[in-house]
Amino acid sequence: MTTANSDPGDRPMNTDVFNLASKTALVTGGSRGIGAACAKLLAERGASVAITYSRSAERAEALVSEITAAGGLAFAIAADAGEVDAAKAGVAQAIDRLGGHLDILVNNAGIAEHGPIGLLSDDTFERQMDINVRGVWYTTSAAVAAMRDGGRVINIGSFLGERVSAPGTSAYGMTKHAVAGLTKGWARDLAARQITVNTVEPGSIETEANPNEGERAAMIKMMVPLGRYGQPREVAELVAFLALPAASYITGAQILVDGGMLA
Ligand code: NDP
Repeated sequence: MTTANSDPGDRPMNTDVFNLASKTALVTGGSRGIGAACAKLLAERGASVAITYSRSAERAEALVSEITAAGGLAFAIAADAGEVDAAKAGVAQAIDRLGGHLDILVNNAGIAEHGPIGLLSDDTFERQMDINVRGVWYTTSAAVAAMRDGGRVINIGSFLGERVSAPGTSAYGMTKHAVAGLTKGWARDLAARQITVNTVEPGSIETEANPNEGERAAMIKMMVPLGRYGQPREVAELVAFLALPAASYITGAQILVDGGMLA
């Protein structure tokens, strides 16, 4: 285990920095979409993985079975990231079942509901605040207390956390700007423990929240230099990299996975 006073960059050349064996991970909102891809890849690379979900119990259990059948270790916990007590209890349960400590937290649970100021309902605004901002705060606060030195906090933001580039996206875009702000502050707060904190910012990724079909998807693809939607696995690859010991000097960053959309 890295200690707060050692220098994780000062390691022998043959150290395996591309391995997550013996690491423990929690992925919020891991039952489908980007979160599920992250959970699968972290498990493939050797981590023991806890996932949370709010409604999709069957999907979550199916993913756990898939990971387990492939030789990995995973389990699922019902914990609504938008309910403070449930979010904290979910973290506590995950840490307990992972053996009392955590190495990697992926704050993925999030919702996107759009509408212009004056038309977006108060409830919709508040729910996005609850899940996308408060959920990230309370989950991380509970998780870092049990995180080992050298741990990783990886927040799933959005390209809309860089620029609010479409009308009607102010509330969601604001929540993802908040995630980027928390990332920068926590990178400083947790640096003494060699815990890195970064935001991964997906562009348009094909999930149930963002289906690759119809006129809207066609318009989006015209704005993406690579000319297509991204796949959840393409986001997970960056998440898994940031989780590695190899990524020990990357912290406080916002990194786009957007097919060049904001280039
Ligand atoms: P999906 O809607 O496909 O999946 C969301 C996942 O989060 C599900 O597992 C869902 O589980 C879970 N979840 C939702 N609400 C809660 C909650 N309150 N508590 C716990 N879990 C919850 O979304 P994506 O995979 O597309 O998005 C994942 C993240 O990526 C989000 O933070 C989103 O903002 C971000 N993102 C996505 C982009 C895209 O194009 N897809 C672009 C930019 C950012 P359940 O079904 O049980 O609720």
